[in-house]
Amino acid sequence: MNYVSTRGQAPTLSFNEALTTGLASDGGLYVPEQWPVVSAEQMLAWRSLDYVALSVEVMALFTGDTISREDLGAMASRAYADFAHPAKAPLVQLDHNQWILELFHGPTLAFKDFALQFLGQLFDHVLLKSGERRVIVGATSGDTGSAAIEAVRGLSQVELFMLHPAGRVSDVQRRQMTTVTDANIHNIAVDGDFDDCQRLVKSMFNDAAFRDEMSLSAVNSINWARVAAQVVYYFHAALSLGAPQRTVSFAVPSGNFGNVFAGVVAREMGLPVEQFVVGSNTNDILTRFFASGTMAANEVTPSITPSMDIQVSSNFERLLFEMTGRDASTVRQWMESFSATGKFSVSADQYASLSTLFQAGSLTDEQTRAEMHRLYQQSAYLIDPHSAIGTSVARDARRPDTPMIVLATAHPAKFPDAVNSATGVHPELPSRVSHIMAAEEHFGQAPADLIFLQQHIRTVLST
Ligand SMILES: *Cc1c(COP(=O)(O)O)cnc(C)c1O
Repeated sequence: MNYVSTRGQAPTLSFNEALTTGLASDGGLYVPEQWPVVSAEQMLAWRSLDYVALSVEVMALFTGDTISREDLGAMASRAYADFAHPAKAPLVQLDHNQWILELFHGPTLAFKDFALQFLGQLFDHVLLKSGERRVIVGATSGDTGSAAIEAVRGLSQVELFMLHPAGRVSDVQRRQMTTVTDANIHNIAVDGDFDDCQRLVKSMFNDAAFRDEMSLSAVNSINWARVAAQVVYYFHAALSLGAPQRTVSFAVPSGNFGNVFAGVVAREMGLPVEQFVVGSNTNDILTRFFASGTMAANEVTPSITPSMDIQVSSNFERLLFEMTGRDASTVRQWMESFSATGKFSVSADQYASLSTLFQAGSLTDEQTRAEMHRLYQQSAYLIDPHSAIGTSVARDARRPDTPMIVLATAHPAKFPDAVNSATGVHPELPSRVSHIMAAEEHFGQAPADLIFLQQHIRTVLST
């Protein structure tokens, strides 16, 4: 299986190359040259597989012959070993034909563990084979940082530098990162905001000499392997509820659109999906797109669902590529227009075809709290604010005959203040995580200055 760029002007890469490259050199995103197709018979056979075994089957379709099945099996076992629930991604019934897919039983209590735990294993495997070492740099406003750290801690071929804005991430989120003691993990508190952190990471990648000197890599959500690992839980949930004979729908609280796009991939591969319902907070660029066919960026407004405070949904480019029948030059024009003017529009036909598959809705913080309250009153189910956006938009858009599966993306204890103010209940951190509140923290500090940071990274690596 080879990988091509959504903008059509970057080299075709193998799975392993796409894994360690991340963003394509033409600014596009890598996707498989064609979608692997899974027959109904194959899906029926998959029904008997547990989560880890299913992840091997799905990932093998994307890795092709670059990684042996035996190696993939070992990686999948290690990737999901630290999940607290034996089913890894259990379904919980909320109401008739309404389900929650709990994706927060991983080590950092958010769905990002599903992709990043596998990605860490893949990186180590591929780099051990080639004898390379990589320096991963990333910026985080919360969930991504801890999930990436948990995924690569202790790996021999990888050093990770994670930048977070000093004083601007929650206590739980910071401690999940800074209490990790493995020698290959380096946290840096940057004197600035999240945008400063992201800008610094971008500048390091744009500095070709530094990029080559360090062999920089990224693990952000545009990495194809992250999307691939997320495809698994769409199959797993739908097969549990009767697919392929039964069609299902999904509702997904969205930011970068990586999670929804994994569902779109499952559907391209043959999984019968009727609807995708996309949820946003007041940073509702996706909702406005699905209401109009025009993508137009606004300022980011902080909300009680910080992991969805995003105005540019980078993975949406992969959907545009599919929707145009893989017309890379049209995608390129739209993306150029978006970066020059902050907007672009699709044609009426393209919009009509998207509208049958996708519905979207957005919630204010007040509406999100009301939904959390409602669910707690009705079912005694404590839900995190991101996932509550999912249950709310699902209820508005669902068709009663089709099972609706809402993806719960974070554990309520990750956002205790929002949960408490909505329900009056303080969600306790699971005991396997609670030690972080007393453990010693380790992090460096830096001004929002590129030269300083580059020197800091060199110094840390040479000691
Ligand atoms: C990252 C994240 C999201 C958004 O996921 P995307 O793949 O960026 O759309 C939603 N909820 C939580 C809790 C997250 O951490």
